[in-house]
Amino acid sequence: MQILQVWLIQRTLIIILIAAWLVACSNTTNEAKGLKDSLRVQETGDNSQLPRASSTRERTPFPVAETLAMPRMTQTNTPTLPAMYFTPSPEAQDLVPTPSPRHVREYCSPLEGHTLKDLQEILTNPFNPPPPGKDTGHHGVDFAYYRRGNRPSILGVPVHAVMAGRVAAAIQNRIPYGNMVIIETPHSALSEELIALLNISNGRSLYLLYAHMNEKPTVELGDWVTCGQALGEVGNTPKGWSSDPHLHLEGRIGPADAVFRGMAYYDTGATLEEMENYRLWRMSGEFTLFDPMVLLTFGLNTPAAERD
Ligand SMILES: [Zn+2]
Repeated sequence: MQILQVWLIQRTLIIILIAAWLVACSNTTNEAKGLKDSLRVQETGDNSQLPRASSTRERTPFPVAETLAMPRMTQTNTPTLPAMYFTPSPEAQDLVPTPSPRHVREYCSPLEGHTLKDLQEILTNPFNPPPPGKDTGHHGVDFAYYRRGNRPSILGVPVHAVMAGRVAAAIQNRIPYGNMVIIETPHSALSEELIALLNISNGRSLYLLYAHMNEKPTVELGDWVTCGQALGEVGNTPKGWSSDPHLHLEGRIGPADAVFRGMAYYDTGATLEEMENYRLWRMSGEFTLFDPMVLLTFGLNTPAAERD
């Protein structure tokens, strides 16, 4: 009987233990499931955040900002550079009111109140070209007088453009030309007779330099001037180089579209550009001299009816 009781107690205890273990297992499973669920939530949470973070990282700095901003910057910068660093295109230059070639074959006296015929009488220093590569002689012609009619001096007489053209230089008071202007008349604006007379080949222009004016030129670089347009007044500049008031007129045939932003004789006060332009104009051989009196005489002898 006692043995039976002990056996029953043992079986009961075993059942209780098994039940307790099952309960425990059940709890553990639930906990594990809860943990898994929790982890899944976190993972899901992470997963839901990661793509967002990832897509945000990808979108913000890369596809949106850069791909849209870069082309805009490029497009903004590109048109600015050529305008600053490149010579304006022929199309751009055409926007300037260029005189029609058929209407510039007119020749005016360079001195107001003096006809082309008068000039021979007031020529004080004739053309005396230097040997090639040298800087000696007299590169142009001088007009001057102390008394002529009711004029006490040539000082202050307005200087006019002999031919229409473009201002290739407008320089203030530098050695040796003082206040001076250079006007370019392009090949297309020259008559066949003048082209033959001065032997001007295609791509080369006629340049006239007006020197020693008493004040800064009244025209600016790039301006287009007409025949007879005022450029300044006869003067005696630069001080110490021009001995008396006179107009020095110099003529050359040279490459088209030349621009001289400065020009000065070799001196410690001259810039490299000024000295290089002096060399280019006077000694390089690219701008060949001609006697301005040949042009002025041609103008005098060209009937007005044939000038247009
Ligand atoms: Zn001279």
